[in-house]
Amino acid sequence: MDNLETLISSLFTLVFSIAVLIYYLNPKKSKCYDCHDVISIHKENRYTLTVNEEQCALCRKCYTKRQKQESLPAQNCYCCGKKFNARMKILEWEVYKSAYFLCAACNRKGKSKLKSQFQLPEIFPDYFIKMHTSYQGKIIL
Ligand SMILES: [Zn+2]
Ligand SMILES: [Zn+2]
Repeated sequence: MDNLETLISSLFTLVFSIAVLIYYLNPKKSKCYDCHDVISIHKENRYTLTVNEEQCALCRKCYTKRQKQESLPAQNCYCCGKKFNARMKILEWEVYKSAYFLCAACNRKGKSKLKSQFQLPEIFPDYFIKMHTSYQGKIIL
């Protein structure tokens, strides 16, 4: 009886070591897809990512990083195309009820452009009225 128990437990150990071996030999399961760190066999530190319909492992650190990235309102600056990351300031512009997301640099550029456009109506009315009246007058003459 004792022998059988020993046999079973050693068999179990053997199966477990094989499973561990297979796990660590398969980089798709044991290595982080992003940082290439080896992830321990314990499930709580292992996350998965599907790339081209294949399951790849992610470490906890890279998983949280990706989660943060995905939760950004946009992935790229609408203006210069720069890729956003979680540490960057992302500014939202609402233009004709559509939202556009700009990086801090483009936001500054946009703001100064907007200012010059806002100043235009102050210059425009007189100019427009003059053009309008001279247009009517000159055509008739
Ligand atoms: Zn990682
Ligand atoms: Zn930009």
